[in-house]
Amino acid sequence: MLTRIMQTNEESLELARDIIQAGGLVAFPTETVYGLGANALDEQACRKIFEVKGRPSDNPLIVHVHRDYDISSLVTDIPEYAVRLREAYLPGPLTMVFRSLGTVCPAVSCGLDTVAIRVPSHPKAQEFLKYVKLPIAAPSANISKHVSPTSAEHVLADFNGLIPLILDGGECTGGIESTVLDCTGEIPVVLRSGLVTREMIAEIAGDCKTHTPVAGEKVRSPGMKYSHYSPRCRTALYAEKDLDAAVSRYDAEEAKGAAVSFICLDSEARKVGQRKCLNIGMTAEEGARNLYRMLREGERELDMIIGIAPAGRDGVMAGLMNRFEKACGGVYEEKD
Ligand code: AMP
Ligand code: MG
Repeated sequence: MLTRIMQTNEESLELARDIIQAGGLVAFPTETVYGLGANALDEQACRKIFEVKGRPSDNPLIVHVHRDYDISSLVTDIPEYAVRLREAYLPGPLTMVFRSLGTVCPAVSCGLDTVAIRVPSHPKAQEFLKYVKLPIAAPSANISKHVSPTSAEHVLADFNGLIPLILDGGECTGGIESTVLDCTGEIPVVLRSGLVTREMIAEIAGDCKTHTPVAGEKVRSPGMKYSHYSPRCRTALYAEKDLDAAVSRYDAEEAKGAAVSFICLDSEARKVGQRKCLNIGMTAEEGARNLYRMLREGERELDMIIGIAPAGRDGVMAGLMNRFEKACGGVYEEKD
């Protein structure tokens, strides 16, 4: 199959609509990462997403809708706080999980009685959704477990020959996946942190909790149990307090002949001397925007990437460090 990358314009949007209506897949830009979309009402089309990505069949898909779409045809029991959150933050990088009406096809919810709904703010995503006039099920447009794509080129690198069309909308400005918020209870619960932070949600909803999975308990957001976002090279992860051990590890790897680099925020990059470093930026927002692009650049040339994580987990740092830790193997090392 020939995979075309096209600027998002009338010609490509018409093509995208035809592909979606015929049960095919189209990759499209959003403000977080690129999505791999299918008609959320078409079971065969949604199954293709799982096949092409190699996605585990118990990991549900987020349904993307146009800002004017009436979601009461898809979900029920929308709490009052969710209406206020919608007014405050949508369109934007906030996905809300509601009780399903069973309208979307079974492959979307993977056996859960809920559906995750997202209204992306990227103007090209809005144009696409307006054109197709359908709810679009879309996970991130990467091979399962690989780093999420923040450009059309990243999508092509993973899916060349496997999907017919990538709508190009430039580089994503958000850079990490949307916040996933469970809105089925009295108090909203963050299942996956992102750029709409727990603090921002609590400000509008009055309260907001963060879900921490407990061993043996039913998983509430299946996607969070999988290892994710991994570059195709070796990784290691150190806390900022163990910087000396991280530096010793780097030096030992380099002495063995490995092409190695740190990855960290600017505050840590300043402390590693002349060693190679992928500096993701000064702030959590900058870090989120740069992390996946730098991981994809790094994996092409490096044998090993060593992450150094700062201690703070407030606001956007919660989402950034969740992705950062997973990308670097998820387990902190303490000594060399
Ligand atoms: P991705 O789009 O690849 O970033 O993955 C979608 C994320 O949304 C995964 O972490 C899923 O577990 C989560 N998700 C999708 N639908 C639901 C749902 N109905 N309930 C809870 N989490 C969901
Ligand atoms: Mg994903």
